[in-house]
Amino acid sequence: MNKLWHAENRMPAKATLEQRIQWHKEHQEHCACREVPKSLLAYIKIKKLK
Ligand SMILES: [Zn+2]
Repeated sequence: MNKLWHAENRMPAKATLEQRIQWHKEHQEHCACREVPKSLLAYIKIKKLK
């Protein structure tokens, strides 16, 4: 787990969907200690198709 990245990239308490997607995208690149929730994955795929 990339503790430094997590310390510098806290998920906001009231993160919007866009913020959550962005956070998980960067998280996958820098750490990926946990998977992107399926509910968010669906949104990411939709965005890529557009
Ligand atoms: Zn992580």
